[in-house]
Amino acid sequence: MTKTAFYPGSFDPPTLGHLDIISRGVHLVDHLIIGVGAHPGKNSVFSAAERVNMLERACSNLGDKSGTKISVMTYDKLSVDAVRSSGATIILRGLRNGTDLDYEGQLAGMNRELANDVETVFLLSSAKSRHITATLVRQIASMGGDVSSFVPQALVTEITEKFLSA
Ligand code: ADP
Repeated sequence: MTKTAFYPGSFDPPTLGHLDIISRGVHLVDHLIIGVGAHPGKNSVFSAAERVNMLERACSNLGDKSGTKISVMTYDKLSVDAVRSSGATIILRGLRNGTDLDYEGQLAGMNRELANDVETVFLLSSAKSRHITATLVRQIASMGGDVSSFVPQALVTEITEKFLSA
């Protein structure tokens, strides 16, 4: 049976923290679907199409190495509904610290009540990317700072230029 996980998030923009979770998550399943949240009314700096494109580029060689298929899609409904309609049975999430654990614990508990056939699996972030948040990447880039230590190399120029033109 094919085991499929769904990794939901804003990815605004994708960071090395997200890539850490994706590059380790691929070893756990046959198919990893990255779900880019595109909820109406939720403002993002990068459009859903830009975030999908950036994730596809950043992950292009990860699936080949592990044999796992990686797909990227947008979703605008409840995560559990997107998980079910994509055929996944696992929600993949990353944990950086105790604050993430508190929030993610609530989310996983409520998702379990909404869909008890879906299991949330957490990966602890690696020490090298534990401090990285997309929010801080946006703040640093918007003030002209160097984000190259925090985001995939292939995305540095696009992310930097987005804020220069804003
Ligand atoms: P952020 O919290 O940075 O805005 P998202 O909302 O896109 O990012 O988060 C999607 C998932 O990725 C969440 O499970 C979040 O905890 C995880 N994540 C984000 N940054 C990291 C990181 N540096 N290390 C591990 N997991 C992370």
